[in-house]
Amino acid sequence: MKRPDSSSWASDHAKEDAGANRGRSIRSKHNATSKKQIESHPRSNDKSLSDRTGSGRDNRTRTPRRRVNSRRSDSKQLADTHSESQSFALWGGLELKKTIVNSILKMGYEYPSDIQKASMPWVLQGRDVVAQAVTGSGKTAAFGIPMCNFVDPHSREVQGLVLVPTRELAQQVQRELSLIGRERGVGVVAVYGGEPIARQIKLLEQGMAIVVGTPGRVKDHMNRRTLDLGSVGMAVLDEADEMLDIGFADDMEYILNRTPSARQTALFSATIPNFIRGLIRRYLDNPRWIQLVSDTKGLETVDEVDQIFYDVASQDKADGILEILDDLEEGSQILIFRKMQIGVDRLSKGLAGEGFAVKGIHGGMSQSERNRVMAAFRDGRLKMLVATNLAARGLDIPTISHVVNYDMPENIEEYVHRIGRTARMGKRGTAVSFIGEWDFELYEQIIAKIGEDKMIKRKFSFY
Ligand code: ADP
Ligand code: MG
Repeated sequence: MKRPDSSSWASDHAKEDAGANRGRSIRSKHNATSKKQIESHPRSNDKSLSDRTGSGRDNRTRTPRRRVNSRRSDSKQLADTHSESQSFALWGGLELKKTIVNSILKMGYEYPSDIQKASMPWVLQGRDVVAQAVTGSGKTAAFGIPMCNFVDPHSREVQGLVLVPTRELAQQVQRELSLIGRERGVGVVAVYGGEPIARQIKLLEQGMAIVVGTPGRVKDHMNRRTLDLGSVGMAVLDEADEMLDIGFADDMEYILNRTPSARQTALFSATIPNFIRGLIRRYLDNPRWIQLVSDTKGLETVDEVDQIFYDVASQDKADGILEILDDLEEGSQILIFRKMQIGVDRLSKGLAGEGFAVKGIHGGMSQSERNRVMAAFRDGRLKMLVATNLAARGLDIPTISHVVNYDMPENIEEYVHRIGRTARMGKRGTAVSFIGEWDFELYEQIIAKIGEDKMIKRKFSFY
């Protein structure tokens, strides 16, 4: 049975009509003040930022690595010459600089999360680490605390480097590390594409201890000689598998090859697929593996997320999303994933036409527009966002109650990350997945890897 009031947009959508917005009547229960439509921009996302000339591999200039225990000793001594760093305090049994403990307590972090407890002792020792733990478990602070603890805030050299796959994640990680390092006066800058490079250069010139960036823009700064990584003692690859997946492999290698080979390297993700092992072999030295996920399946979703699956034909997805949205409680915050930028534009226009206050976000939009949309979604002014995979990784917006896979992702890792945008740090959440005609292979994998016991099967009323 079709919904009488959704037939126009829904059937237009079924025909993939780009002009699907028909100015429907505004629904009273949703705030429909914001009906601004997101324009479609030419394709230019983070991926295209990276100037992948292939030179990374040819320029490998690594020297043999020093032994683990001799690493970072120079900079550590440097840091210890400052009286501030002589003052220590315990946090969950871990000895940290007092100023760091003060900051993290102010952030409300009273004790370490499981992954922090398991990985931080090794990271603090200077060991290379591969850490895998479910989404929303506090991986950022697991490397951020040791990094802010390690660097010398008085030095003008970049000593900590964090590479991340997206601009929004760079901004978020920069914010978290700034908070962790606040009392200690640790300078943290984010560098990413789509923003005037001059502003970033100005910040870099001030002498920042930590740089968080997307590989494309980091490399760009290195080529302009506005960023020198010759003093990096600790490098972190956050969401490394995604960086490889979206084509940053050469940039990452280029960058890592230009940091001291004696540096400490850590890799954090909720998923460690096999294709990442080459990178680990080349750039990590006898790493300590910390895997807080099922070792038989190698993949895990958090228990607090209800994973609901609907079979739905492509032409009925629009009706399906309306049925889902009509059932949502007031105050829900929902993130809807689509595969293509054009699909994001169409769905956000279609839903806006139905009276929903909704925006879209994808790599074809200007960075200032992306920032505006993200800021509104983060602070809860915006309750509904349609996104490409750009929003699948790392984003921490604890108020998100629902994730919808309107289009299923390409693979099971992306599924795990997408649904991981909800149910963070012990909160509950719901993930709804539309299983279309082409998604059965992935669906079978989800059954095999995530487990049928974690899955809830439902049927739309119109079937
Ligand atoms: P992950 O990278 O594992 O997906 P994040 O680093 O984004 O997770 O952290 C998820 C949430 O947990 C964030 O909101 C963060 O502020 C919070 N958090 C991290 N560590 C702690 C802690 N020790 N105590 C309380 N909250 C924490
Ligand atoms: Mg993370």
